[in-house]
Order: sequence, then structure tokens, then C-alpha cells
Amino acid sequence: MEPMLRLYNTLTREKAPFAPIDPTHVRMYACGPTVYDAAHIGNARPIIVFDLLFRLLRHRYGAAHVTYARNVTDVDDKINARAAERGVTIRALTDGTLGAFHDDLRKLGVLMPEDVNVPGERPRFVEPRATDHIAEMVAIVERLVASGHAYVAEDHVLFDVPAMADYGALSKRPLDEMEAGARVEVAAYKRSTLDFVLWKPSKPGEPSWPSPCGIALPGRPGWHIECSAMSWKHLGETFDIHAGGIDLIFPHHENEVAQSRCCFSTPVMAHVWLHNGFLQVEGQKMSKSLGNFVTLRDVLKDWPGEVVRLAMLKTHYRQPIDWTLRGLEEASRMLERWYGLAGDIGPGRSVPATVLEPLLDDLNTAAALAELHRLDDPADLKAGAGLFGLLGSTRSQREAAAVAVAGVDVGQVEALIEERRAARLAKNWAESDRIRDRLLRIGVAVKDNKDGTATWTVAT
Ligand code: AMP
Ligand code: ZN
Repeated sequence: MEPMLRLYNTLTREKAPFAPIDPTHVRMYACGPTVYDAAHIGNARPIIVFDLLFRLLRHRYGAAHVTYARNVTDVDDKINARAAERGVTIRALTDGTLGAFHDDLRKLGVLMPEDVNVPGERPRFVEPRATDHIAEMVAIVERLVASGHAYVAEDHVLFDVPAMADYGALSKRPLDEMEAGARVEVAAYKRSTLDFVLWKPSKPGEPSWPSPCGIALPGRPGWHIECSAMSWKHLGETFDIHAGGIDLIFPHHENEVAQSRCCFSTPVMAHVWLHNGFLQVEGQKMSKSLGNFVTLRDVLKDWPGEVVRLAMLKTHYRQPIDWTLRGLEEASRMLERWYGLAGDIGPGRSVPATVLEPLLDDLNTAAALAELHRLDDPADLKAGAGLFGLLGSTRSQREAAAVAVAGVDVGQVEALIEERRAARLAKNWAESDRIRDRLLRIGVAVKDNKDGTATWTVAT
């Protein structure tokens, strides 16, 4: 028998054995990106960490018994402003940003719906978009108003915070702190400073939908309501795990809990709440607003996605990570060693207990990776790394990735190789050497084979 999975729950501030509501169907939700612009490397942290948890749950409960929903926020102030600036619809803007983000996530070895879903079966991984769930949001808003948990004021619908007895149970913030946090957006029509927007009128030019509760003006949802709607639609009124970055605990997750619990009259929204720590630069959270960010795209120009993934997972998910060149170099060396040991063998047998046990202990990746590094049996190493989503590429895929990272123009290289072959056939050794040097200058090393052909690799 495998040891139990234990998870640290923000709701109880304790690490406890994980007991799914229905062990034949484990349900997990993660708040995903707001797709208005290129993601920074910090945004990749929750995606990678919760991808690992999804893999671990699939391993523990069986692939057909886990459903994961990771949403996409495709309507908000920043998206509306950017789309207006560019003169495109929000759908066109968010489709473009999301497509680029997906390409980057594939490079990071993150499982995608098409990797795990089986046609004709219940979806195992869904990536719902907010704008496809307006009807569910409207339904929740109307139920909240009908049950006295929300009210209409000046064409807005607001959640009535004092009407919920145990509001604040997740973030456990003192009332005055929550009020101070909410004060930035105090409007005259709010009954209490803490009340938050469920629905608001759209400004001219903004995307809009018919409003709930008989409001004549077309409007759009507030931010928090989308996750209550999407988790309900895809996972049900109550589910097992809700995950996201630590910055989302208040107000986003607190307000999701308020909406869902009051709408469905349930004691909890999700049983376990997981929050990842920040990726930092010199001790500060990486963020767009601080301007201390590197885009995921730029990092992936310099480093293979697998190196980035390992560098991210070396730190326990709840700890802050300082993003450094040294961390990436270390990850790169670890992977090189592992590929040397187990690169060319098929998938391993079963995940070694020494690797699995620390992972089951609240995803202790640091300890699990240290154990992985200790293994010298290639089959064990391959299986253990496989659970991490690592060591899965073939030699030619790695070479292609190295070529892409080095920015080598394959067409140009092949033309030069062909010119060099012709020079060698004509015994023009000076020309052959000149071409070899030229290739080296663009980062390509040539090796001549006995049969007269030549192979090339990205020079390291
Ligand atoms: P945003 O697009 O800002 O809503 O962020 C999307 C996700 O990335 C959320 O789950 C955030 O908590 C997470 N996030 C943003 N910045 C960081 C960071 N520096 N480190 C870790 N997670 C972050
Ligand atoms: Zn959310």
C-alpha cells in the first residue's frame, strides 16, 4: 500500500491526509491566467506546480478518475483596454495571447487537454473560458439576489458581505484589514465597504451581455464570479481541491467561496485550498506592475522548457523562489546527467518509493528530486522523472530544441553543409575548412562520418 497523499490546506492551516469526496472521481480547479498580454515566468509557476499535482493524482487515483479544470480569464479591464487600443474584439486578442501561451506550456511539458482526454469519455482536463460561461454567472447572480445575499444598486449587482456570517474564513484577515483593502473601490452605491461587484454596467465600447435581475443596461461580470460559475459547471457545487497563487487568497478566493457557498447553501466550496508562493527577483514578487519581469517567451528563447520546469520544481511550491541564472544552470546540469544515464531507454517500470513518498507529502519536490538524483538504475530514474514530466524527449527532439534555443537557421545550415560536401568532393580543403569555421561562428559543429556524409549539432 502506498502512503497517503497529504496536503497543506490554507483553509485549516494544517497538513492533513487528502480524502476525496468521491475516490472514483477526484475534482480539482486552478485559477488560470488573464490572457491580455504575454505571460511572465512567475505566471508559469502555478501552472507547472499544479500540473505536477494533476499528474500525481492521476498516478494515485487512476487517469480516468481525476478531473482538472484550469480556467482562462478572457474578460477584464486590462483585456478590454488592450483590445480597444488595438481595435480588435476581446476574442481575437485573447485567442492570440492564449495560443502563444499554450505553445509555451507545451515546451514546459505541461499536460494539455489533448494529451489526456479520451474521445467519448468524460473530459479529464478542461480549460473553460469565462466568456463561455456568462449564462452560469447570470444564474448564480440571480440566485444570490433571490436568497438575499446580493442586491441591485445603480445597475450594479453587489454581494452583501455582512449578510454572510462567516465571510473571511479562508483568508482569516481581521475585518479592518479587509476593509482597508476594499476601500480603493468604494462607491456610493455600496451598502458596506466590503461588498464586492458581481455584475456591472459596461462602459461604451466595452464587451457587454444582457444583465441579470431586470437591469436594463447591458453589462459584464465582476472578476470573482467567473470561477464560481466555471467550477460549478465542470466540477459541481462542492469539489475537492482549489488551487492558485498566494496573491489570490484575498479577495479573489474569499469572494469565490462567498458566492458559491451562499448560492448553493453548502458548508464549503472546495475541501482543500492550495496556494503557491511567489517567484521573486531580488526578494520581490515578479509582476507586470513592478516592471521586474521576464516573459516566459524570452526565457524559452534561452533555455529548453524542461530546464525551466526542473528549475521551478526544485523549490517547494509554498516557498518563494528566487529566479536566478544559477538555478537554471544547475537544472540544466542535472538533466544532462540524467539524460546521459537514462536518455535512450523506454519508459520506466514503476515510480520508486523513495521518490513517490516525499511527493505524497504535500509535494515535497525538493526531497523527491534529491532522491531521484541518487538513483543509478536507469529504469527507476526514467520512471521517477516521468512522474515529474521530465526526461520524456528523444535525442532528436532534444537536438531540435537545442537548435531552436540557439536560434540556428536550419535551412542555412543545411545549405552550408551541402556546399562543404561539394568542396570536399572537389578536394578543396581550404574551402571546406572555411565553411566549417563559418558554421562554428553561427553555433554549429560539424562531424565528418566515414561514409563521406557529415552530421551537425549545436555547438556547446
Ligand atoms: P494573473 O495573470 O496576474 O492573474 O496571474 C495568473 C496566475 O499567476 C495567478 O495564479 C497568480 O497567483 C500567479 N502569479 C502571478 N505572479 C506570480 C509570481 N511572481 N509568482 C508566482 N505566481 C504568480
Ligand atoms: Zn479564480
